[in-house]
Amino acid sequence: MQFSTVLYYACGQSNREFQPGSSLLDMKTTPAPSAYSYPLLIRHLLNACRLASPQNEIISADLVRYTYTEFLERLGRLAGGLTALGVKPGDTVAVMNWDCHRYLECFFAIPMMGAILHTINIRLPAEQLLHTINHAEDDIILVHEDFLPLLNQIRTRIERPVRLAMIRDSAHYGRDTLPDGFDIEYETLLDMGKDGFEFIDFDEHRTATTFYTTGTTGNPKGVCYSHRQLVLHTMGVITALSPGDEHVRLHRGDVYMPMTPMFHVHGWGLPYAATMLGLKQVYPGRYDPVSLLSLISREGVTFSHCVPTILQMLLAADEVTPIDLNGLKVIVGGSALPHGLARAAVTKGVQLFAAYGMSETCPFLTVADTMGMNHGSVLDRDIAMRLKTGKPGALIEMRVVDPDMNDMPRGSGHTGEVVVRAPWLAQGYTGNIGDSEELWRGGYLHTGDVGYLDHDGSLQITDRMKDVIKSGGEWLSSIKLENIVSRCKGVGEVAVIAIPDEKWGERPMVIVTRSPDHAVTAQDIRNAVREQVDTGKLPGWAIPERVEFVTSIDKTSVGKLDKKLLRAHYAGPPGENPAEA
Ligand code: AMP
Repeated sequence: MQFSTVLYYACGQSNREFQPGSSLLDMKTTPAPSAYSYPLLIRHLLNACRLASPQNEIISADLVRYTYTEFLERLGRLAGGLTALGVKPGDTVAVMNWDCHRYLECFFAIPMMGAILHTINIRLPAEQLLHTINHAEDDIILVHEDFLPLLNQIRTRIERPVRLAMIRDSAHYGRDTLPDGFDIEYETLLDMGKDGFEFIDFDEHRTATTFYTTGTTGNPKGVCYSHRQLVLHTMGVITALSPGDEHVRLHRGDVYMPMTPMFHVHGWGLPYAATMLGLKQVYPGRYDPVSLLSLISREGVTFSHCVPTILQMLLAADEVTPIDLNGLKVIVGGSALPHGLARAAVTKGVQLFAAYGMSETCPFLTVADTMGMNHGSVLDRDIAMRLKTGKPGALIEMRVVDPDMNDMPRGSGHTGEVVVRAPWLAQGYTGNIGDSEELWRGGYLHTGDVGYLDHDGSLQITDRMKDVIKSGGEWLSSIKLENIVSRCKGVGEVAVIAIPDEKWGERPMVIVTRSPDHAVTAQDIRNAVREQVDTGKLPGWAIPERVEFVTSIDKTSVGKLDKKLLRAHYAGPPGENPAEA
C-alpha cells in the first residue's frame, strides 16, 4: 500500500472519493488523522450563506421568488433527479436557458455532483452551436422551450446519443405533452430527486464547467475550469470588489442582478460571488431594457454588470421611461466603454467602473481603481478614472511585454501585449494542442490585447492586437478614436476599424449611429478628431476620410462590436459594401 493511500484512510475519509494531494506529505505537522483537508469545491461556496442568509431572496423575473433555504434544497433535488436520469460524475450536462433561478441552480448542482456544466451560447449561429454540442460531448441538454426551434435545426446531427430535458416557464408544465425525443421536464426532474442527494468531496482539480469562446475565426474553441479555479476566482472577484471605494464596492447590503448572460464566462463569475456572499439576487430572464429597468427599480437592484451595448440600450430606454438610477453600481467590461457613453451614464447617477478579462481567464483580471475620484463629476479626469482598465486582482501576475517577452517600461508611451498568470486561467483549449501552446507561449497566457502599465500599477488596454490601425509604420488605437467620436453631440454608438489603403497599408474608418433627434455630420466628427490632431495628441492621418452613418452596428453573440465582420463589410471601396447599399 502506498503512503498516500495510507494517509487517505488514516484521514478518516475512506467513504470519500477525495484523495489528499501529495503536498500534504510535505507538511511539517503530521495531519491529525481526522483533520479535514478541505478541497476547494464549488459546494463549499455555499457554506457561509447556508448559515448566514437562509432567508435572503433569489428572484427570477415573473417566475419565482424564493429563499436561499429553498434554493439549497432544490440543488439536492436537481442533482438527485439528474442521477435518477442516469447522469454520472464526469458526464457533461449542457444548458440552454435565459438567466433565471434554474440556471443558477445548474451553476451549482451540476458541478457539485461531479458532472460538467456546459453553458451553451444560445446566440451562436446554429452550425457553431452544433459544433460546441458535439465537441463538448454533451450527455444531456436542459433546454428552455424558447430554444427548441434552434435546437431542432441541428438535432439530427448531434453525434452522440444525447438526452433532452425541457425547461418551461408556464405555470402549466405540460409534463405529459413533451415534444418528441424529450425525456423529462425540469420540475419533474426535481420531483424525481425529492429524496435529495448527498454531495460528496472529490478532487478539486476535477472539471466543473466548460464553454466556448466567441469572436474567433473558424469554430469556437472550448475552455474548461476546475472547481479549484472557480473557487479561487470567486474569492478573487470578491477580494477585488470589496475593499474599493465606498461608492462602488460590493457589500452585504447589495442587491445583485446580472446583465451579462450567464453563458458568457459564467456571467463573469458574479453569480458565484453573489451567492457565496448570500446577497439578495434578481435574475432578469430574457434581456429587455424596459424590464431590466423595471426590475432595478422594483427590486432595489444596486449592483450589476454589462457590456457597453447593454448600457447604451438601458440609457436609451431610460430616456423614454425614466427611473432613479442614482447610486446603481455597474461594472462595464467585455470591450472598451466609450467616454461619451460613460459620461451619459454618470450624468444619470450611475456608479460606473470598468473591469477587464476574457473567456480564457475565467474571466476576471483587473478592475478600475476609483479611490480619490470625485463622485458624480463628469469631468474628463474623473470619467477617465472609471474607465481605466484598472489594477490586477489578488494573485494575478500581469506583465506588458514586447514580442520577445521583455517587460515594457511603465507609462502611456510604452504599449505592448498583456500577458498574465493566475490560478484560474484556462490551461488550454480542449483538444487543440496547437492553439493551446500558442496561448501559453513563454509560460504566460497571451491575451492578444495591447496596453500599457501606468506608474500606479494600473493597466490601460489601448486595443485588441487585431483591431489596432497600422498606417505607414505607425499604430493608432481604434479605442482612442472611438472615445473621441463618442463625445460628439448626437453620436449614439461608434465603431472604428482599419480599412485597407493602397499607399499607407491601413487607414481608420468611423461607423456611427445617430442618437434620436440629432443631426451630427461627418464634418462634426472630423472636426472633433482634428482638435486632437491640432493639440498634438493624434497624428494627422487619424482624421477619418470615411465616416459612415448606419442605423445599427453589427454585434457578436455577446453584444460586442463585431469588428471582424465590419472589416469584412467595408474592405472594398465606398459604395461596394453591402452595408452601404
Ligand atoms: P471575451 O473572451 O469574448 O470575453 O473577450 C475578451 C476580450 O474583450 C479581451 O481580450 C479584450 O480585448 C476585450 N475586453 C474585455 N474587457 C475589456 C475592457 N474593460 N476594455 C477593453 N477591452 C476589453
